[in-house]
This record gives sequence, structure tokens and C-alpha cells, in this order.
Amino acid sequence: MIVTRFAPSPNGPLHWGHAYSAIVAHDRARESGGRFLLRIEDIDGPRSKPELADEFRRDLAWLGLEWDEVPAQGTRLASYEAALETLDSLGVLYPCTCTRAEIAAAATRTGAEGPIYPGTCKHREVPPGTPAALRLDLDKALAITGPLTWQDAIAGTQAIDPAPLGDPVLRRKDLPASYHLAVTLDDAADGVTLVTRGLDLFHASPIHRLLQALLGLAVPQWHHHPLLLDEERRKLAKRRGSPAIADYRERGEDGRAWAEKLRTAQWPCGISIGKAHI
Ligand code: GLU
Ligand code: ZN
Repeated sequence: MIVTRFAPSPNGPLHWGHAYSAIVAHDRARESGGRFLLRIEDIDGPRSKPELADEFRRDLAWLGLEWDEVPAQGTRLASYEAALETLDSLGVLYPCTCTRAEIAAAATRTGAEGPIYPGTCKHREVPPGTPAALRLDLDKALAITGPLTWQDAIAGTQAIDPAPLGDPVLRRKDLPASYHLAVTLDDAADGVTLVTRGLDLFHASPIHRLLQALLGLAVPQWHHHPLLLDEERRKLAKRRGSPAIADYRERGEDGRAWAEKLRTAQWPCGISIGKAHI
């Protein structure tokens, strides 16, 4: 029995890529007689627009999906704090005061999310009270856990290679947790056995696997599905004008019929599926 989830961030309307992701997750859960969860990832402070969560629910219902909703991230801050204390007691965290610009200037390598953090603050004293993010020291963490693998339903067995990662932020300067920490803890707390999401987050899963090992959490499987792409084969994004599915819903189009089209690889106009040229 699979427990999986759709975990949208309410910082912009859902587009066809989100709809596809939700359908893949929903159908994987249903095929196994399992559960499909909706979790609103609203930790992103000022970028989060609470009213969008209701729009998301309307969109999913329009697509003919049924879900169980679990608490939004904003209600789980104490668990993030507790996990950071555990990690700190393992000695695998360090404060980082770098700005984006400093990292860009100091980095010598680029990864999936831009410049790879070169470890500037790893050996730097940060005066108490200075606003700082907390980063996970990957070398120290992997020295504790030893080599780790994870299973992707499409890509198969994956081993953690720290080289393209850089020490990830677990608590941001401005927020009590980062995406990596929150999503790992929430998936464990929600009993998720299959993490379903787009290939754009494939690079994040080794970090989550490592956190599971450090924090003694159950290890799920992953299913990273291909992305829906625009005419220029870039992943869909609201900021690039990808249409919101709410527009189709509000025009009175048949959402269940659209969902069936996505299931049978009939993509909306101008959209294709595959590997993105980011
Ligand atoms: N909240 C993330 C997003 O909207 C997805 C997180 C995940 O599925 O792991 O991109
Ligand atoms: Zn730093």
C-alpha cells in the first residue's frame, strides 16, 4: 500500500506541470489501494499566499482527484526546531552568514541550483547574534552514516555522491527551516512511503536520504517523473507565462477530461514532456 503526496507551495497558481504531478501521485496511490495526501508547503513566509491553498483544492477537485489533507508546514515549526537540535548535537551543522552574491563570487562550480556553496563559513567563527543560516556539513554527515543508497521508481538504485551537492542550508536566515529539512520531516511524519515529484527535484533526494539516516527516519522510495515543457523545452513556470489551470477551470472546461488527456499523454497546446533544457 503506497502513501504518497502532492506538496505544492502557495506562491503561484498551479500550472499543467503541477496537475500532471498530482495525477501521477494520485494514481500511484490508488493503484495500490493506498493514500494520496495533499500538503500545503507554506513555509516560505512572505512569498506564501494563503488564499492560493483554496484555489489548489478547487483545482484538484476539478481534475477529479480525491485526497486526504495533512497539516501545512506552518503548523510544524516545533518539529523542525527539534530536528535541528538533534543534528546540532551530532556536530554536523555550522552557521553561514554568506549572501547569495558572496556565494556566487566565491563558487568555482555550478550545480542544479546554481553556484555550489564552496564551504566558505565551514572554518569561520561567526560572532553570536549575527544573522546566519545553518548548513549541513556533508563530509561530517557522511562520515557518520557511511555510504547510502536510495531507490527511484524510474531511475533505479542511486548512490549518494556529495560532489555536486555542496553543504545544503537546513535553516534559512529568514525562516525556521529550509525546503530540504521541512520536506524530509513532513514526509516522515505523514507516513509517506513514495515521494512523488518532478525530475527538477531529483538532485534534492540524496540530501533527504542523508537527513533520514541522521535523524533515524523511515526511508521511502522516490518516483521522479519527467517534466512538462513549454515550446522552448523549458520546464513550465508561472513567471514564464505558463497558463494557470484555474483559468481553464474558471472558463468552465471539463477538468476530468483534461486529467484523462494527461494520463494518456495528450498534452495541452504547446506542451511536451521530457528532460528540460533549464
Ligand atoms: N513544494 C515543492 C514545490 O512546489 C515540492 C516539494 C516536493 O514535492 O518535494 O515545488
Ligand atoms: Zn557561508
